[in-house]
Amino acid sequence: MTLPQAFERMPAIFMGHGSPMNALLRNRYTAGWAAIGGKIPRPKAVLAISAHWYIPGTAVTAMPGPRTIHDFGGFPPELYQLQYPAPGDPVLASRIQRLLMPMSVGSDDQWGLDHGTWSVLCHVYPQADIPVVQLSIDETKPAQFHYEIGKRLAPLRDEGILIIGSGNLVHNLHAYAWGRHPVEPFDWAVRFEQQVRESLLAGDDKSLIEYESLGHDAMLSIPTPDHYLPLLYIIALRHQGEKVNFPVDGVDGGSISMLTVQIG
Ligand code: ZN
Repeated sequence: MTLPQAFERMPAIFMGHGSPMNALLRNRYTAGWAAIGGKIPRPKAVLAISAHWYIPGTAVTAMPGPRTIHDFGGFPPELYQLQYPAPGDPVLASRIQRLLMPMSVGSDDQWGLDHGTWSVLCHVYPQADIPVVQLSIDETKPAQFHYEIGKRLAPLRDEGILIIGSGNLVHNLHAYAWGRHPVEPFDWAVRFEQQVRESLLAGDDKSLIEYESLGHDAMLSIPTPDHYLPLLYIIALRHQGEKVNFPVDGVDGGSISMLTVQIG
Protein backbone atom coordinates (compact mmCIF):
# COMPACT_ATOMS: atom_id res chain seq x y z
CA MET A 1 0.00 0.00 0.00
CA THR A 2 1.33 3.44 -0.88
CA LEU A 3 0.64 6.09 1.70
CA PRO A 4 0.06 9.63 0.46
CA GLN A 5 3.17 11.75 0.70
CA ALA A 6 3.23 13.64 4.01
CA PHE A 7 4.19 17.28 3.95
CA GLU A 8 5.22 19.60 6.72
CA ARG A 9 2.52 22.26 7.10
CA MET A 10 3.52 25.24 4.98
CA PRO A 11 3.28 28.82 6.24
CA ALA A 12 0.88 31.21 4.53
CA ILE A 13 2.29 34.64 3.74
CA PHE A 14 0.92 38.06 2.83
CA MET A 15 3.63 40.02 1.03
CA GLY A 16 3.59 43.79 0.60
CA HIS A 17 4.89 44.05 -3.00
CA GLY A 18 5.05 47.84 -3.54
CA SER A 19 6.61 49.14 -6.76
CA PRO A 20 7.22 46.71 -9.65
CA MET A 21 10.79 48.11 -9.64
CA ASN A 22 11.50 45.90 -6.63
CA ALA A 23 11.89 43.09 -9.16
CA LEU A 24 15.08 44.75 -10.42
CA LEU A 25 16.24 46.35 -7.18
CA ARG A 26 18.15 44.94 -4.26
CA ASN A 27 16.92 46.62 -1.09
CA ARG A 28 15.78 45.75 2.43
CA TYR A 29 12.44 44.46 1.14
CA THR A 30 13.90 42.20 -1.52
CA ALA A 31 16.56 40.92 0.92
CA GLY A 32 13.76 40.07 3.34
CA TRP A 33 11.82 38.19 0.63
CA ALA A 34 14.92 36.22 -0.39
CA ALA A 35 15.53 35.29 3.26
CA ILE A 36 11.99 33.87 3.52
CA GLY A 37 12.68 31.57 0.58
CA GLY A 38 15.75 30.21 2.37
CA LYS A 39 13.98 29.70 5.70
CA ILE A 40 10.68 27.98 4.96
CA PRO A 41 10.26 24.40 3.68
CA ARG A 42 10.54 24.13 -0.08
CA PRO A 43 6.97 24.01 -1.44
CA LYS A 44 5.67 21.64 -4.08
CA ALA A 45 3.94 24.62 -5.70
CA VAL A 46 2.89 28.20 -4.99
CA LEU A 47 -0.67 29.52 -5.06
CA ALA A 48 -0.61 33.30 -5.42
CA ILE A 49 -3.54 35.65 -4.84
CA SER A 50 -2.43 38.94 -6.36
CA ALA A 51 -4.04 42.37 -6.07
CA HIS A 52 -3.46 42.73 -9.80
CA TRP A 53 -5.83 39.98 -10.89
CA TYR A 54 -8.96 41.77 -9.70
CA ILE A 55 -11.81 40.78 -12.01
CA PRO A 56 -15.55 40.10 -11.94
CA GLY A 57 -15.28 36.41 -11.10
CA THR A 58 -13.09 33.75 -9.51
CA ALA A 59 -10.71 31.96 -11.83
CA VAL A 60 -7.54 29.96 -11.53
CA THR A 61 -4.65 29.86 -14.00
CA ALA A 62 -4.69 26.38 -15.52
CA MET A 63 -2.04 26.60 -18.25
CA PRO A 64 1.17 24.54 -18.05
CA GLY A 65 3.40 27.54 -18.88
CA PRO A 66 2.00 30.87 -17.60
CA ARG A 67 3.40 33.95 -19.34
CA THR A 68 5.04 36.82 -17.46
CA ILE A 69 2.61 39.76 -17.64
CA HIS A 70 4.05 43.29 -17.56
CA ASP A 71 0.88 44.91 -16.25
CA PHE A 72 2.08 48.47 -15.70
CA GLY A 73 3.19 51.54 -17.64
CA GLY A 74 6.03 54.03 -17.54
CA PHE A 75 8.84 51.89 -16.18
CA PRO A 76 12.34 51.31 -17.64
CA PRO A 77 12.76 48.81 -20.53
CA GLU A 78 14.70 46.35 -18.32
CA LEU A 79 11.56 45.74 -16.30
CA TYR A 80 9.59 44.79 -19.45
CA GLN A 81 12.34 42.35 -20.40
CA LEU A 82 12.20 40.52 -17.11
CA GLN A 83 10.74 37.03 -17.39
CA TYR A 84 9.71 34.70 -14.60
CA PRO A 85 9.35 31.37 -16.43
CA ALA A 86 7.98 29.25 -13.56
CA PRO A 87 5.81 26.39 -14.79
CA GLY A 88 2.09 26.27 -14.08
CA ASP A 89 0.37 23.39 -12.31
CA PRO A 90 -2.90 22.29 -13.98
CA VAL A 91 -3.37 19.52 -11.38
CA LEU A 92 -3.24 22.06 -8.54
CA ALA A 93 -5.64 24.29 -10.50
CA SER A 94 -8.22 21.50 -10.63
CA ARG A 95 -7.62 20.67 -6.95
CA ILE A 96 -8.48 24.32 -6.14
CA GLN A 97 -11.63 24.12 -8.26
CA ARG A 98 -12.72 21.02 -6.33
CA LEU A 99 -11.97 22.61 -2.95
CA LEU A 100 -14.15 25.61 -3.82
CA MET A 101 -17.11 23.59 -5.17
CA PRO A 102 -19.99 24.20 -5.65
CA MET A 103 -18.72 27.66 -6.42
CA SER A 104 -17.80 27.96 -10.08
CA VAL A 105 -14.10 28.72 -10.56
CA GLY A 106 -13.05 29.37 -14.14
CA SER A 107 -10.09 27.59 -15.76
CA ASP A 108 -8.05 30.44 -17.14
CA ASP A 109 -5.67 30.06 -20.07
CA GLN A 110 -5.22 33.79 -20.79
CA TRP A 111 -3.78 35.48 -17.72
CA GLY A 112 -0.46 34.15 -16.40
CA LEU A 113 1.72 35.67 -13.72
CA ASP A 114 1.24 39.37 -13.04
CA HIS A 115 3.78 41.59 -11.32
CA GLY A 116 2.09 41.19 -7.92
CA THR A 117 3.29 37.60 -8.14
CA TRP A 118 6.56 37.66 -10.05
CA SER A 119 8.08 40.88 -8.64
CA VAL A 120 8.14 39.11 -5.26
CA LEU A 121 8.73 35.49 -6.31
CA CYS A 122 11.76 36.44 -8.40
CA HIS A 123 13.44 37.13 -5.06
CA VAL A 124 11.89 34.32 -2.98
CA TYR A 125 12.56 31.65 -5.66
CA PRO A 126 14.95 33.21 -8.20
CA GLN A 127 15.38 29.93 -10.10
CA ALA A 128 11.67 30.03 -11.11
CA ASP A 129 11.67 26.23 -10.70
CA ILE A 130 8.61 25.91 -8.46
CA PRO A 131 5.22 25.74 -10.23
CA VAL A 132 2.95 28.76 -9.69
CA VAL A 133 -0.82 29.07 -9.96
CA GLN A 134 -2.78 32.31 -9.53
CA LEU A 135 -6.30 32.69 -8.16
CA SER A 136 -8.21 35.82 -9.13
CA ILE A 137 -9.95 38.16 -6.68
CA ASP A 138 -13.64 38.64 -7.53
CA GLU A 139 -14.10 42.42 -7.46
CA THR A 140 -17.89 42.09 -7.16
CA LYS A 141 -17.79 40.31 -3.79
CA PRO A 142 -17.65 41.67 -0.22
CA ALA A 143 -14.70 41.18 2.14
CA GLN A 144 -16.31 38.25 3.96
CA PHE A 145 -16.46 36.26 0.70
CA HIS A 146 -12.68 36.48 0.26
CA TYR A 147 -12.10 35.39 3.85
CA GLU A 148 -14.37 32.36 3.32
CA ILE A 149 -12.47 31.32 0.20
CA GLY A 150 -9.26 31.46 2.23
CA LYS A 151 -10.80 29.07 4.78
CA ARG A 152 -11.67 26.59 2.04
CA LEU A 153 -8.10 26.61 0.74
CA ALA A 154 -6.62 25.66 4.12
CA PRO A 155 -6.05 21.94 3.30
CA LEU A 156 -3.48 22.97 0.69
CA ARG A 157 -1.07 24.01 3.44
CA ASP A 158 -0.74 20.35 4.39
CA GLU A 159 -0.17 19.30 0.78
CA GLY A 160 3.08 21.19 0.32
CA ILE A 161 1.48 24.29 -1.22
CA LEU A 162 2.74 27.74 -0.27
CA ILE A 163 -0.15 30.22 -0.38
CA ILE A 164 0.90 33.81 -0.93
CA GLY A 165 -1.31 36.89 -0.85
CA SER A 166 0.36 39.79 -2.65
CA GLY A 167 -0.86 43.34 -2.09
CA ASN A 168 -0.17 46.16 0.38
CA LEU A 169 -2.21 46.72 3.50
CA VAL A 170 -1.71 50.47 3.16
CA HIS A 171 -1.80 51.45 -0.53
CA ASN A 172 -2.57 55.07 -1.41
CA LEU A 173 -1.02 56.02 -4.74
CA HIS A 174 -2.44 59.57 -4.64
CA ALA A 175 -0.32 60.32 -1.60
CA TYR A 176 2.70 58.31 -2.85
CA ALA A 177 5.96 60.24 -3.28
CA TRP A 178 6.74 59.20 -6.87
CA GLY A 179 10.47 59.58 -7.45
CA ARG A 180 11.01 61.53 -4.23
CA HIS A 181 12.69 59.12 -1.83
CA PRO A 182 13.00 58.76 1.02
CA VAL A 183 10.04 60.48 2.66
CA GLU A 184 8.57 60.09 6.11
CA PRO A 185 5.52 57.84 6.33
CA PHE A 186 2.19 59.62 6.73
CA ASP A 187 0.82 59.52 10.28
CA TRP A 188 -2.39 57.83 9.13
CA ALA A 189 -0.40 55.12 7.34
CA VAL A 190 1.67 54.38 10.44
CA ARG A 191 -1.40 54.37 12.69
CA PHE A 192 -3.40 52.08 10.42
CA GLU A 193 -0.53 49.63 9.94
CA GLN A 194 -0.10 49.49 13.72
CA GLN A 195 -3.80 48.87 14.16
CA VAL A 196 -3.64 45.98 11.68
CA ARG A 197 -0.59 44.50 13.44
CA GLU A 198 -2.44 44.58 16.75
CA SER A 199 -5.51 42.92 15.26
CA LEU A 200 -3.32 40.23 13.69
CA LEU A 201 -1.50 39.53 16.95
CA ALA A 202 -4.82 39.38 18.80
CA GLY A 203 -6.37 37.08 16.16
CA ASP A 204 -9.13 39.64 15.65
CA ASP A 205 -10.12 38.60 12.13
CA LYS A 206 -13.51 40.28 12.46
CA SER A 207 -12.15 43.82 12.57
CA LEU A 208 -9.80 43.04 9.67
CA ILE A 209 -12.74 41.81 7.58
CA GLU A 210 -14.84 44.82 8.59
CA TYR A 211 -12.05 47.26 7.74
CA GLU A 212 -14.51 49.71 6.23
CA SER A 213 -15.77 50.46 9.74
CA LEU A 214 -12.29 51.31 11.05
CA GLY A 215 -12.55 55.04 10.35
CA HIS A 216 -10.58 57.71 8.54
CA ASP A 217 -7.13 56.08 8.74
CA ALA A 218 -8.53 52.95 7.10
CA MET A 219 -10.22 54.97 4.36
CA LEU A 220 -6.95 56.71 3.49
CA SER A 221 -4.99 53.44 3.68
CA ILE A 222 -7.45 51.40 1.61
CA PRO A 223 -8.92 53.81 -0.98
CA THR A 224 -9.69 50.73 -3.13
CA PRO A 225 -9.88 47.15 -1.79
CA ASP A 226 -7.65 45.37 -4.36
CA HIS A 227 -4.34 45.56 -2.46
CA TYR A 228 -5.90 44.85 0.95
CA LEU A 229 -8.09 41.84 0.12
CA PRO A 230 -5.21 39.35 -0.38
CA LEU A 231 -4.56 39.75 3.36
CA LEU A 232 -7.99 38.30 4.17
CA TYR A 233 -7.22 35.07 2.27
CA ILE A 234 -4.06 34.66 4.35
CA ILE A 235 -5.49 35.36 7.81
CA ALA A 236 -8.29 32.88 7.06
CA LEU A 237 -5.63 30.16 6.75
CA ARG A 238 -4.45 30.56 10.33
CA HIS A 239 -5.00 27.62 12.66
CA GLN A 240 -5.98 28.10 16.30
CA GLY A 241 -3.01 29.36 18.30
CA GLU A 242 -0.71 29.59 15.30
CA LYS A 243 1.89 32.30 15.53
CA VAL A 244 2.07 35.33 13.26
CA ASN A 245 5.19 37.36 12.56
CA PHE A 246 6.32 40.23 10.38
CA PRO A 247 9.58 39.29 8.66
CA VAL A 248 9.65 42.39 6.40
CA ASP A 249 8.37 45.87 7.21
CA GLY A 250 8.67 49.51 6.22
CA VAL A 251 6.59 52.20 4.54
CA ASP A 252 7.61 53.10 0.98
CA GLY A 253 7.03 56.59 -0.45
CA GLY A 254 5.04 57.64 2.62
CA SER A 255 1.88 55.73 1.77
CA ILE A 256 2.65 52.11 0.88
CA SER A 257 3.08 49.62 3.69
CA MET A 258 5.57 46.92 2.77
CA LEU A 259 4.61 44.77 5.76
CA THR A 260 4.89 41.02 5.27
CA VAL A 261 2.60 38.91 7.44
CA GLN A 262 3.68 35.31 7.94
CA ILE A 263 1.29 32.80 9.45
CA GLY A 264 3.02 29.68 10.78
ZN1 ZN B 1 0.44 46.47 -6.70
